[in-house]
Amino acid sequence: MKRLKIVTVGDYRKVVASQHIRKGELVIDMSHGEEIPIAEMDDGYYAFQIREDLFLGSREADAGDITCFINHSCDPNLAFRDGDTLLTNIRHIQAGEELCWDYSTSIDDGVFNMNCGCNSGNCRGTVSSFGQLDGATQQRLIPLAIRYIQEKYR
Ligand SMILES: [Zn+2]
Repeated sequence: MKRLKIVTVGDYRKVVASQHIRKGELVIDMSHGEEIPIAEMDDGYYAFQIREDLFLGSREADAGDITCFINHSCDPNLAFRDGDTLLTNIRHIQAGEELCWDYSTSIDDGVFNMNCGCNSGNCRGTVSSFGQLDGATQQRLIPLAIRYIQEKYR
């Protein structure tokens, strides 16, 4: 996928657009990871949740696999298309802009919590499980969320 590149800044890695990408033009297939039962999940995984009891991801980040390095933002430019495990861009992306999705739209394990430093205007300060978000935020994020969350909270 030549339109995207992985950029390393210190020990922080991110995925950046190499060129302008029109809304909806990008489709990133997130479905190729290893299935990880929820009981085996820990912070060492690069993973997101695809079902009530199942994550998808990998233990080791694959240096060439951009899906390992797409970070969270509370104001994301990516979202799950039709609830599926395909990320698409929900607005135009400028060359040099970082690609992000909202991790809360793909995690609902009840305990997930991490500090957020995305610096967006609507930053929530923490990234939590979908179920821990307030009702208004949940309603706003449901259209961006992965399928099992859409079905559970709709
Ligand atoms: Zn944030």
